Amino acid sequence: MTDVIHLLPDHVANQIAAGEVVQRPASVIKELLENSIDAGASQIRVLVKEAGKILIQVTDNGNGMSLTDARLSFERHATSKINSAEDLFSLRTKGFRGEALASIAAIAHVELKTRREEDEIGTCIKIEGSEVVSQEPCVTPQGTNICVKNLFYNIPARRNFLKSDSVELRHIIDEFQRVALAHPGIQFSLFHNGSELFQLPGSNLKQRIVNIFGGKTKEKLVPVEEETEIVKIHGFVGKPEFAKRSRGEQFFFVNDRFIKSPYLNHAVVASFEGLLKDKAYPGYFLYLDVNPKSIDINIHPTKTEVKFDDEHALYTILRSAIKHSLGQFNVAPVLDFDRDSSMDTPYGFSQKGVTPPKVEVDLNFNPFKNDTLGGYSSSNYRKVRSAASWESMYTGLEQNEQGRASSFDQVEFESEEVTGNLFGGSEDKQAGGTTFQLNKKYIVSTLKSGILVIDQHRAHSRILYEELLKNITVTSAVSQQLLFPLALQFSTNEMELLKEIKASLENTGFIFSELKKNSVEITGIPTLISESEVAILLEQLLSDLENEVPGSGFSQVDTLSKSLAKGMAVKSGTALNSAEQQNIVNSLFACKDSSLSPYNKPIFITLTVDELDKKFM
Ligand code: ADP
Ligand code: MG
Repeated sequence: MTDVIHLLPDHVANQIAAGEVVQRPASVIKELLENSIDAGASQIRVLVKEAGKILIQVTDNGNGMSLTDARLSFERHATSKINSAEDLFSLRTKGFRGEALASIAAIAHVELKTRREEDEIGTCIKIEGSEVVSQEPCVTPQGTNICVKNLFYNIPARRNFLKSDSVELRHIIDEFQRVALAHPGIQFSLFHNGSELFQLPGSNLKQRIVNIFGGKTKEKLVPVEEETEIVKIHGFVGKPEFAKRSRGEQFFFVNDRFIKSPYLNHAVVASFEGLLKDKAYPGYFLYLDVNPKSIDINIHPTKTEVKFDDEHALYTILRSAIKHSLGQFNVAPVLDFDRDSSMDTPYGFSQKGVTPPKVEVDLNFNPFKNDTLGGYSSSNYRKVRSAASWESMYTGLEQNEQGRASSFDQVEFESEEVTGNLFGGSEDKQAGGTTFQLNKKYIVSTLKSGILVIDQHRAHSRILYEELLKNITVTSAVSQQLLFPLALQFSTNEMELLKEIKASLENTGFIFSELKKNSVEITGIPTLISESEVAILLEQLLSDLENEVPGSGFSQVDTLSKSLAKGMAVKSGTALNSAEQQNIVNSLFACKDSSLSPYNKPIFITLTVDELDKKFM
């Protein structure tokens, strides 16, 4: 038998390698941006057409390349950034694998123009599918200008696998933001199909965050600062009252590289313990500086995962640093009248070891349980104070008195083990019809041979969902006009999504008077929701849509309807009069599917007389 193993030709090997590095247009942008940063650029411009499927162009004013380097840069494992394996342990550059340009050139039409300061004339190279088509001298400013056209032109399967332009653009914006956040001192701009999405001047970190996420962000940020022998931390966390329904604004950077780390994320969340509402995610922009020796970046081709030597210590330091900040900026309910005066000493003194700083935050503090608080102090003063400071954390989320009251009712209602109240308040309702409400959560009705218990929120979600599904693309619903227009801030990404679904939202009763780059003005809202709920509803909707990553128009309408239905439906904890209860029961059983909520949870249960009989045996 003859030998069967042979070496793959370069262009095939490059295509395979490309699959690891380049998943979508956004990956190309990330690699090119990182190259520009490594080249010392202070200005970087990104130009994208049709979400990068047609064109991605990155122009920088960095060092540029010599004629030979320009040619070599497209070879696999060609890099100027490391010389030996040891260099891997002292990395300060973004790139080091020498794969990006080779990979990109294997699956696209690439044109590179570059010139160094000392050269009079630059060089221009054209490459298609790893083949150099031409290289000639050209006139070009100092720096590098690289165009990547027709991505995946030679791998139709990959090209077809790409999502809609709006989804791919969102990925691009994500990558762009990550790089821009890691390098606030560099000027960045991003254009899509000729319109400017970002224009970010070089600035300090706080200003960069504000420039990306909008003016309102400024007041939401609490600075975090810590210095120990193994890590230097700086950055910001969002105040708990601004925690979002989505993970959108959570960023970790290690040595100025964006990374994902569920473990460190957990440390952040843990430091917010007791301060967040259910299902709310705190925002954060945290920068960790560690000795390059103590991390391994080379565990994943896209380098977004990092292995730390001492993850556990990092966890502890991070958590206490954030707790300290939240406490110091009076965000956390620090009981400051009897705190240790040592808390007032400056925090980040450099000779401190790894031992986590001691922070006087009461972990067991639960604002909803006044009695536990009273357990160790009978002082009324303390009670009142803590409750007040807790409540103040919610201002902004619930804007009017009524909104706040109802949300607190609801929380209390859920945290208490309510066992009674079966008869209280339900009698008069029962008199009106064959239904009554249990715990402001369930509608109970009798059946011919048993009882029916309906989850009011799920039932109403189902009713609204089917209505929305039917009408959202065609008719306009009635809206309630707002006395004063409501201005809401969103990130660029969220605004792009909002533009996409504007027409559908208008069909549900929203009226938008203005859609700006980072904010929207609303003058009318659907009749079913109150003004104070709008922000939460839209935020949840955008996050649902973002997470769904819809591929087709149909699924977007579906997600939209589901999310809106959930947001508009009566909440648990809302008292319903008997007409409302009846209405829900009747409409529910007129639905196509009355058994499952839009999120596939059971809407009702039945208890037959037989089953009851068994329980009495
Ligand atoms: P890596 O970044 O891992 O070294 P790349 O394939 O991304 O690998 O780039 C190969 C080489 O090309 C880099 O090491 C660098 O020397 C050069 N290069 C790439 N982009 C630029 C740029 N924008 N400006 C100057 N040099 C660049
Ligand atoms: Mg690179």
